[in-house]
Amino acid sequence: MTTPTPGRVWAHVGQPFAPDAPYDVLILGAGRMGSALALALHDHAPSLRTLLVEEGGLPNEDGATILAPGLWTLAHLPDAQHDAARWTLNRLRDLLGDDLQARPYLNLHDRPTPGTQPTRDLLATHPQSLALLDPDLLPHAEAHEAHLYRPGTLAQTAAQTAIRRGTDLMLNTRATPHPGGRVTLERLTVTNTHQIVTHETHTLHAPLVVLATGASAPAQAEHHLGLHTRHARAYRQTPHLDAPSTPDAPVLHARGLTLRPQHGAYTLIPTIHHRDPHGYTPQGGHLTGVPTGLRRETLEDLVGLMDAVPALATSELHLGRSLADIPGAWLALPHGQPDAPPTHQRLDDHTHLLLGGPHADTLGLWTADALAREIAGGSRQ
Ligand code: ADP
Repeated sequence: MTTPTPGRVWAHVGQPFAPDAPYDVLILGAGRMGSALALALHDHAPSLRTLLVEEGGLPNEDGATILAPGLWTLAHLPDAQHDAARWTLNRLRDLLGDDLQARPYLNLHDRPTPGTQPTRDLLATHPQSLALLDPDLLPHAEAHEAHLYRPGTLAQTAAQTAIRRGTDLMLNTRATPHPGGRVTLERLTVTNTHQIVTHETHTLHAPLVVLATGASAPAQAEHHLGLHTRHARAYRQTPHLDAPSTPDAPVLHARGLTLRPQHGAYTLIPTIHHRDPHGYTPQGGHLTGVPTGLRRETLEDLVGLMDAVPALATSELHLGRSLADIPGAWLALPHGQPDAPPTHQRLDDHTHLLLGGPHADTLGLWTADALAREIAGGSRQ
């Protein structure tokens, strides 16, 4: 087997952009979905020349990928999606190795359901976890398999592996799709006064363009290609609970809220109830008249859980004084639904859409691979 020639990386405007040959595929957005697609194309269509374009540096600092929980679990997935999830888990093992950690996942209930055991028994060896809860209000729990990882590491590993196998990468470049497979690329620089400005613009044409720009992708399709989709987006905040967690602490889930052990404490992952209305700007809420950085819906959910999870009613819950104090990101909602799996869709002769969304941790790699297979099938015809 011959060693592939690594791809080229244009990280900043000091490196003149001069590709060796035209590209077959332009992937816009190097979050985990775009990066995973670039890698999967090497498996399924190794002869295609691919350029991956990313607006930020890599890893991106506030995208859906970097703030995603990094939690693989079958706990809330319908049976029909289990095979795709298992496939994704195997791939995560290949890509992440020891950076993927197995953890128990406990789904806590107030009533017994098939498969539940007493919460006190399941948490007998985890007293710190038990101390967060009122086990009389959440006496039943069902245990699931789960694995934790950092999605930012996944995006970076997938992108680096793809580059070693021949994908080209452009960073600090904002891409705009146009009809007919035309894409404009604005290479960005930061001025002394921290303003982002366009340094130079390039235009490329390719037979295939993939919008993997996360929550921005449906709006890009609509504004630049005139194609309306049913996809939507929602702003998810992931506040912090300063209660201590041990390195083997289980993931806890109660009434829609997930407590993910992270950095010796917990990251809280609230339910996404619905799409955010068009034009919605995230805003903080109020708790007994005092402004907080947590958006109102999230705050209401947490207040509703304070009896069952008393740790939320302590100063360990980080409420922030402004929105910027609480990590948060826009997520794509495939089909406008908070519980839909990742998806890909052909938009026109030249353009595919690739969306991760809330279940990208568990199913994203499979969906990126499915799109790579479809592209490979099309390029052989
Ligand atoms: P996903 O989970 O679908 O990968 P992310 O939001 O993490 O979603 O990734 C989308 C990526 O696309 C981000 O890294 C973001 O910086 C990048 N991006 C968004 N808009 C553009 C654009 N116009 N041009 C290039 N990259 C973009």
